[in-house]
Amino acid sequence: LVKIVGVHKYFGDHHVLNGIDMTVKQGEVAVLIGPSGSGKSTLLRCINHLETISAGRIRVNDELIGYKEKDGKLHELHLKDIARQRRNIGMVFQRFNLFGHKTVLENIIEAPVQVKGQDRVPAKRRAQELLDRVGLAHRASYYPAQLSGGQQQRVAIARALAMDPELMLFDEPTSALDPELVGDVLDVMKDLAKSGMTMIVVTHEIGFAREVGDTLTFMDGGVVIESGNPREVIATPQHERTKGFLSKVL
Ligand code: ATP
Ligand code: MG
Repeated sequence: LVKIVGVHKYFGDHHVLNGIDMTVKQGEVAVLIGPSGSGKSTLLRCINHLETISAGRIRVNDELIGYKEKDGKLHELHLKDIARQRRNIGMVFQRFNLFGHKTVLENIIEAPVQVKGQDRVPAKRRAQELLDRVGLAHRASYYPAQLSGGQQQRVAIARALAMDPELMLFDEPTSALDPELVGDVLDVMKDLAKSGMTMIVVTHEIGFAREVGDTLTFMDGGVVIESGNPREVIATPQHERTKGFLSKVL
């Protein structure tokens, strides 16, 4: 479903992604780990074209993301096409980015109604189903500030799912949470994985990587150092840098 080939990204002179190759098949959960500054968030942001890329190709469903190719050159797509591609890719960030002045239900129906033009009644019904799925059926009329961080993050997941994305990107969705709230969010992600959603997850939750991940990719310095079956990478990392990193997070 996702094919990343030879992706480079510069911020000015800073070479943040240095030739990334990565493939995620339909229904797979790809977990991405690596030290701070290694380029994990940048890579995720490139996948829904929140960042431009300096070279390479990113394809979702065989469609080039953010660009069209003409005579071997990339030309950035029009905003309308970029927006269409983004609708198909849900993203959940480290910090809950809910609208504070809207209730949980309003947060979830916002994009389906405004962007997809869905009617409010079916959108609300669907939102209620999604809230049920993330264990928050009874919180529809609350405001974000009235919820715990973990609950807010589960609403953020429900909100992303309301657009029926084909791919979900998670950027350290539990790292800003109190430890006792992490499990509920990981459980929701685990259910989502079981339902067959294709997911790319940046996380330091190695237990989640081992249990739920189909692949585990270790990045450092904008390069994929190693990638493989999570159990194997965790038990027998092939590179010194992977060993060093894992010894710190395990
Ligand atoms: P962390 O684990 O801390 O979230 P990360 O692996 O997600 O780290 P990125 O956020 O992708 O790392 O950042 C990679 C590098 O790119 C860092 O050195 C960062 O300073 C730089 N960087 C990221 N965004 C920008 C930007 N908008 N402008 C300039 N430099 C940036
Ligand atoms: Mg990051």
